[in-house]
Amino acid sequence: AGQDEHRDGSSHRRQVVLFSLPFQGHLNPMLKLAAVLHARGLGVTVLHTDFNAPDPARHPQLTFVPIHETLRDEATSPDSDILTKLLALNAACEAPFRQALASLLRRGQNVSCAVVDGQCYAALGAAGRFGVPVLALRTDTPPRCATCWRVDELVPHCPAEEKLDELVPDLEPLRVRDLLRVDDCDTDEMCSFITCVADAVGASVSGIVINTLEAMEASELAKIRRELSLPAFAIGPLHLLSSQDSAEQSLYTPDVSCRDWLDLHPARSVLYVSLGSLACVDRGVFEEMAWGMAGSGVPFLWVVRPGLVSGEEVPSLPDGFSEEIRNRGKIVTWAPQREVLAHAAIAAFWTHCGWNSILESFCEGVPMLVQPCFADQIVNARYVTHEWGVGLEVGEVLERESVAKVVNQVMVGEDGPLMRERAHRLQMQASAATSSAMDSLVQYVLSRAL
Ligand code: UDP
Repeated sequence: AGQDEHRDGSSHRRQVVLFSLPFQGHLNPMLKLAAVLHARGLGVTVLHTDFNAPDPARHPQLTFVPIHETLRDEATSPDSDILTKLLALNAACEAPFRQALASLLRRGQNVSCAVVDGQCYAALGAAGRFGVPVLALRTDTPPRCATCWRVDELVPHCPAEEKLDELVPDLEPLRVRDLLRVDDCDTDEMCSFITCVADAVGASVSGIVINTLEAMEASELAKIRRELSLPAFAIGPLHLLSSQDSAEQSLYTPDVSCRDWLDLHPARSVLYVSLGSLACVDRGVFEEMAWGMAGSGVPFLWVVRPGLVSGEEVPSLPDGFSEEIRNRGKIVTWAPQREVLAHAAIAAFWTHCGWNSILESFCEGVPMLVQPCFADQIVNARYVTHEWGVGLEVGEVLERESVAKVVNQVMVGEDGPLMRERAHRLQMQASAATSSAMDSLVQYVLSRAL
């Protein structure tokens, strides 16, 4: 139990209950938010799944309550696509989340509000039905959120090939193809997932909390506020607001030997390559990535995590690639990513465009090569290349020759310095992001006591 509890289990602090889906990219921002809210004087209870459960020892100031869900294999299997996981997790969490929240409320906790993962429509709806004020936490981007809430209008049914590159009115720089690329997912199922989220937001949510900076996405945020008629708090980048790196939730143990390896390299000479915690590529793409990196001739630090290659629990490196690694590469199964991005040796980040990765890259002023795999990554990638101008596309079809070329373009070509300068500007904006949005959020929470 948290430090602020009285002997009878009640707390003198106003309580906030948080719940996140158990993905790396959702849990970390949620736990950062929990730490900040606690530091601002609120009591924080984190309801969580048994799967990927946070380690309470790392967050002694917070109270953790497992909901004890029963998960089917498809919710967590590396072979399931993201939509299957989202649907299965929503279904599995609904009843246990409801029971856990009911039990907290029965204990007479002074709950001001619940902050619930914006993609967990089941928990958003359940919290709303108790009459608890609910805030939805979006760990993805405002444009992505906007597309989610206007899906019927925005996802054209079977658009003609020549329409795919048309810009979507009101959502430039997004093209029709950016809204459609849900890859392996069934489009109808994706639409019904998005509709469930939109319905839960419409019925249960009294505000949106977004892990982004107001300065970077002012017009998108204004659009969300207007269209949803809800307050939207842009409180990011969350990882800069809470300094507890050691408290970071990690799916795998970071291989810190890459520190010494990076120390051996001159400033801005290394390409860092990571596709995050969930994305996977097929064997052919993996081989083209490997040989493209090799062909570029630049030193590279590559995260090859279990499950990165579809169907292979532990991906094997391409034949003959060990020689390339000896010459100028380092492979790790998991990197201390924020530390890596902050290292002077890093020149560019080849990323799948998960929102956390993008924010972390901005905050270190590192330009990107984008290889989006699914969901909001596609929209994020388009913004990185066409709105913020801090990245290049690796290419929709990956071939080693073009990969080598684009790697050189971002690392040593003439585009590099320009992108780095823009990235540096974003870095400045990120570090200047004040905590005033957090002040407003805390004010809001305090005004919402049941
Ligand atoms: N990450 C890390 N080490 C790695 C790869 C990723 O620490 O080797 C962290 C990264 O810093 C980020 C998170 O995992 O905070 C990934 O979140 P993101 O939203 O970028 O992508 P997701 O994994 O959700 O697709």
